[in-house]
Amino acid sequence: MTYAIDKNGYYGYYGGAYIPEILRANIVALKQQFLALRDDQAFNAAFFGLLKDYVGRPSPLYYASRLSERYGAKIYLKREDLNHTGSHKINNTIGQVLLAQRMGKRHILAETGAGQHGVATATVAALMDMQCTVFMGETDMARQQPNVEKMRLLGATVVPVTSGSKTLKDAANEAIRYWIHHPVDAHYVIGSVIGPDPYPAMVAHFQSVISGEIRRQLMEQEGTPFPHAVIACVGGGSNAAGAFHHFLNDKEVQLIGVEAAGKGVDSGYTAATIATGSTGVIHGSKTLLMQDSDGQIREPYSISAGLDYPGIGPLHAYLHETGRATFMQVTDEEALQAVFLLMHLEGIIPAIESAHALAALEKLSFTHAGPVVLCLSGRGDKDMDTYIREAPAALKTHLP
Ligand SMILES: *Cc1c(COP(=O)(O)O)cnc(C)c1O
Repeated sequence: MTYAIDKNGYYGYYGGAYIPEILRANIVALKQQFLALRDDQAFNAAFFGLLKDYVGRPSPLYYASRLSERYGAKIYLKREDLNHTGSHKINNTIGQVLLAQRMGKRHILAETGAGQHGVATATVAALMDMQCTVFMGETDMARQQPNVEKMRLLGATVVPVTSGSKTLKDAANEAIRYWIHHPVDAHYVIGSVIGPDPYPAMVAHFQSVISGEIRRQLMEQEGTPFPHAVIACVGGGSNAAGAFHHFLNDKEVQLIGVEAAGKGVDSGYTAATIATGSTGVIHGSKTLLMQDSDGQIREPYSISAGLDYPGIGPLHAYLHETGRATFMQVTDEEALQAVFLLMHLEGIIPAIESAHALAALEKLSFTHAGPVVLCLSGRGDKDMDTYIREAPAALKTHLP
């Protein structure tokens, strides 16, 4: 079994490029450029150079001793929260904007949910002197205000999206619509392993720096490149894809993705796509998505703007179908408790998205002595309003 994408852009049954004819030339050119440059020395020197000196990579693999004591396992946190702009999103953004630059594009488009992808894109667009337009749902603009201000100060235009649930999927719809009208000068930087081929594999490639580093760091710190398990939260699935990538063919490494259950998997207020989804097409890709019996997309819900998406990358649909990865579901409340637990045990304020991965530790039992690596995808600065509001209730329940 191989978990690489095939030449038509499919992981097994999932993936492909279901796009309007007018974008076909863009997608074909993008795929050619990506395949030509992914192993190009000068391109990789520029990419890895920026990851090192601009982003601050490698991000630390931190042995969390108090968390380890609590769960009876050797838990390491992959500190993507320490990256410039505060999450893993910048790894992919740098790769794609470098590609766009070499394709002669002058205008960068992005959709954003939590605003982390928007901030990363606005940042790299400023660095590379490109025009930047970010589409963001109005609901998300309200709950992630600091990131909206950051994008604007960095010189990006933030376009409020008022359709649907006014969240991530609606922002992606709007970005695609805009791209259809500006196919020549604009490149659309998709922020996760979603969208038409070549995006899912391309984003996974740029994010795979995460698992490449984990292998090297574990070798140094534990004398083996193989963890017992890798745990990551899954919105579209890019931090998970990056953290899993170099372990996909190492069957002894358990891969665990954690989706947002919202108010509960069966509550009608959820973003748990693997648990509640079925096959369909969303944003140019055949994958699992949340839909009703007429094929209408069900509005997702999660406290976390970055996980509030009704689809999932085709790689993860395939990893689920083949059983290579296990997917778990974590509610808003469980995630919030994990936020305060990490603050108190390790002095780290995680993003609400990353806290979903942390909450999975409560549901797993570790009988194996091997190291467990959890991808801490981002920091919690953007979530401070939520944390201040929710602190009293969450504190009551988790403290011993
Ligand atoms: C965007 C985001 C996510 C979810 O996106 P994936 O593509 O699933 O990784 C998770 N964590 C943080 C901090 C984010 O900003």
